[in-house]
Amino acid sequence: MRNIKFFDTTLRDGEQSAGVNLNLQEKLEIARQLERLRVDIIEAGFPASSKGDFEAVKQIAETVRTCSVTGLSRSVRSDIDAAWEALKGGAEPRLHLFIATSPIHMVHKLRMTPEQVIEAAVEAVKYAKRFFPIVQWSAEDACRSELPFLAKIVAEVIKAGASVINIPDTVGYITPKEYGEIFLYLQNNVQNIENFSLSAHCHDDLGMAVVNSLSAIEHGATQVECTINGIGERAGNAALEEIAVALHIRKDYYQVETRLNLQEIKRTSNLVSKLTGVVVPPNKAVVGKNAFAHESGIHQDGVLKEKTTYEIISPELVGVPSNSMVLGKHSGRHALRNRVEELGYTLSDEEINQLFVRFKELADKKKDITDDDLIALIFEEKFDHFKDFYQLSSIQVQYGTNQIPTAVVVLKDGKGNEIQEAATGSGSVEALYNTLERCFQTEVTLLDYRIESVGGGRDALAQVFVKVRVRDVETSGRGTAQDVLEASAKAYINAMNRVFMIEAMRAENEKVATS
Ligand SMILES: [Zn+2]
Repeated sequence: MRNIKFFDTTLRDGEQSAGVNLNLQEKLEIARQLERLRVDIIEAGFPASSKGDFEAVKQIAETVRTCSVTGLSRSVRSDIDAAWEALKGGAEPRLHLFIATSPIHMVHKLRMTPEQVIEAAVEAVKYAKRFFPIVQWSAEDACRSELPFLAKIVAEVIKAGASVINIPDTVGYITPKEYGEIFLYLQNNVQNIENFSLSAHCHDDLGMAVVNSLSAIEHGATQVECTINGIGERAGNAALEEIAVALHIRKDYYQVETRLNLQEIKRTSNLVSKLTGVVVPPNKAVVGKNAFAHESGIHQDGVLKEKTTYEIISPELVGVPSNSMVLGKHSGRHALRNRVEELGYTLSDEEINQLFVRFKELADKKKDITDDDLIALIFEEKFDHFKDFYQLSSIQVQYGTNQIPTAVVVLKDGKGNEIQEAATGSGSVEALYNTLERCFQTEVTLLDYRIESVGGGRDALAQVFVKVRVRDVETSGRGTAQDVLEASAKAYINAMNRVFMIEAMRAENEKVATS
């Protein structure tokens, strides 16, 4: 059986989703989880694009030991140099070079002739090969390129030293049959191509990313690029979990193997959804909440008698836990640590100690602490902490049906200074957010506000997600508390801290660029 490599680009293409801005801690956690999932390659970012991206790629390359870590690079030396600096500490450094090959991109974006594009591509691959053992080359907008030209440039970059050739459907335009034909064309028209790896990279603008990727595999591709939950630019990328499970369940048809640990799929999906704030639709294949729920009476009856009557994927295959374990007031630090590890999170001793304090506080107010509660606490402790930025000290909100809702907020900035403000609004949340806007002294557009309970029960934790726009930065934030208003305040502050983090990074980049 052929082996198919999974190239995960959740941290690069996925992070390009509108409103997704992960901090370093969050990226590292996702990278560690991708390693547990046993993807072959992790694309950790675009090192030359910003100082923050550079740092994240470097740390991921140095942390991950059992996957190859790669970074994106334009076909220019300064990008390749930055990528090498970021990736050289990795277990198997690999560069992902790209240049556009479609007439529309070459004419309007690059303003280069096809000959100039070939020259630039070859030059870049040769330069990259001085440092990198593995160079992957991508033809941006390959699917709208002229096939003879595509074959010509692929032949040239192979000669120059590229060992993986990626054929992205950058704009999500191709159909499965056409996509398969491009792979066949290259196999028939590029000499020695059988000694190199062909890779698929699909976008979901027409809802065909997964099926196009599968078609590429059927027609000779040995690598697929995808993201967890299919997040990514515009309508997203091909969903890793859907391709992986399709290849497994229909092994009889596809006749290929992967090295993935499918049992980590659900955990990875949850982690990415929670950290990015991008919700998984309940009806989504493989990882949706309802993916294994049988509703009709006839179906339920059938499944009870024999599972396979209506169930082609077992929940256990992708690691959906059958019973969620519950911790309580009397659970000790050891039980807590065990559970955290079973849930797939990596916490330092100090973080465990802090988490234990929070856990005990919650256990005093809430009888059963479920996995979801625990994950919410881990998030507060590990990821939502912006030490150098703003923190909530206290809130007070007054509401009555015949009163004007009023809020008072006290915040602490990174230097420990207190900021206190008060304001009114037509509802409690508006009063609170008007007050916070005053605290930050800047105009904040609230693009989305969502509230949900963590699990069931009247004493459940409240979790709030917000999306905000401040100046030209769009980002999301989340907050958890037993009270909905406190959770709302925390989510808003979390989003604002991300805004300041992004702006600080940009200012840092400008300093680098001008010095
Ligand atoms: Zn893409």
